[in-house]
Amino acid sequence: MKSPLWWWLLARLAGALVVGLLLGLWAGAPELGLAVVLGLMLMRELLRLRRLQAWLQAGAGEPSPDAGGIWGDVLSLVARLQRRKQYHKQRLLRLLRELRRSTAAIPDGVVLLNPYGEILWFNRMAARLLQLRPRGDVGLRIENLVRQPEFIRYLQGGSYEQPVVFRAGPGGEWFLTAQVVPYGAGQRLMLVRDVTLQQRLEAMRKDFVANASHELRSPLTVIAGYLETLSQDEQLDPALAGPLNEMRRQSTRMTAIIEDLLALSKLEAEGAEVALEPIDVPALLEHLRHDVLARSNQALDVQVLCESGCWLLGDPAQLHSAFANLADNAAKYTPAGGRVVLRWWQDGEGGHFSVQDSGIGIAAEHLPRLTERFYRVDPGRSRATGGSGLGLAIVKHVLQRHGGSLEIASVEGRGSTFTCHFPAERLAERAH
Ligand code: ADP
Repeated sequence: MKSPLWWWLLARLAGALVVGLLLGLWAGAPELGLAVVLGLMLMRELLRLRRLQAWLQAGAGEPSPDAGGIWGDVLSLVARLQRRKQYHKQRLLRLLRELRRSTAAIPDGVVLLNPYGEILWFNRMAARLLQLRPRGDVGLRIENLVRQPEFIRYLQGGSYEQPVVFRAGPGGEWFLTAQVVPYGAGQRLMLVRDVTLQQRLEAMRKDFVANASHELRSPLTVIAGYLETLSQDEQLDPALAGPLNEMRRQSTRMTAIIEDLLALSKLEAEGAEVALEPIDVPALLEHLRHDVLARSNQALDVQVLCESGCWLLGDPAQLHSAFANLADNAAKYTPAGGRVVLRWWQDGEGGHFSVQDSGIGIAAEHLPRLTERFYRVDPGRSRATGGSGLGLAIVKHVLQRHGGSLEIASVEGRGSTFTCHFPAERLAERAH
């Protein structure tokens, strides 16, 4: 017992017992004397305990009752604990309020969802963008409030690496992106952003490219026509033959660029749906082989390896242009005497078309950027071969629209392999 208070209490108890005993002896009943003294002391302690209970029940606001001795010590300890609790509570409340205020002020929408997709909380911007009612919609499933199919597919899909773009707003005139970030035990944080302006600018850019290409096509056709006529004129000054030839070459290049730009615009303008016509791939491969041999200026060994009789479901014009682009590139970037192999096969994952060449190859650092528009490894060489720099961008787009992907493998100086992968559901048995 460290506290002197306890000694004091014990001394008082002993003193009271001695007094009680003496009084009892004097009265001829020592037990009664002891019992009276003990009873009085017990009553005093009970009274103090009652006061303590009443004070604790009254809550933190009341001043602690005056009590001496050990009870006073207990009271001051309880009061100190209470003050400390109060201080931490206030601090936590302040922190929580600040956190709420700051998340409410975030310029992006923030929605917290539980594992069942029910809304736990959302900020002001989320309420505005998704048109949620600040109090009424908490606890409801978000799929019942935001019903755009793309959004629901994304939310239920479970792969949240990329955000989803969907239409929203009173008349569906806004474009929003939503990105889900999983956290905790199945909880999800969803960030919503207004991208209407970016989407409009993107649409304007697409329209501009499509319109400009379209407008340039007619004058260019006229110029190409006159150049053709002029070059056939036998009375033409021989000194002009060289420049005229160069002008014809350049106008052919410009036409190719415009045709490719228009093809890309068309691919972008068309919806996600793509035709599902059966395409005879083995026949297409033979066709491509003839085209390559006919177009190529140099002697090439072009082989066809058709390991599957399967057909492909898709848009014939688009797939023909994608495959032809790859075959043309192989021929363009393979020197005379080289070999080009066109291969079609299938496995558990789906159908695959590859074009392998023994040409100049591509250095590894260029591979990731090859499908960007106008990206060329060697611009001079590409121009000399009449390339538009858009071929691989078209191939990538076409494959995306068919649920496929493009794989490029290449070793500089040794050759390249471009492989188009198609999912199994795009394959069809040969049509009779
Ligand atoms: P281009 O019209 O210039 O050929 P593409 O988009 O078809 O444009 O190709 C982009 C670039 O990729 C080309 O400029 C070329 O440098 C490179 N490339 C494409 N195919 C091959 C290939 N088979 N071998 C080597 N380089 C290639």
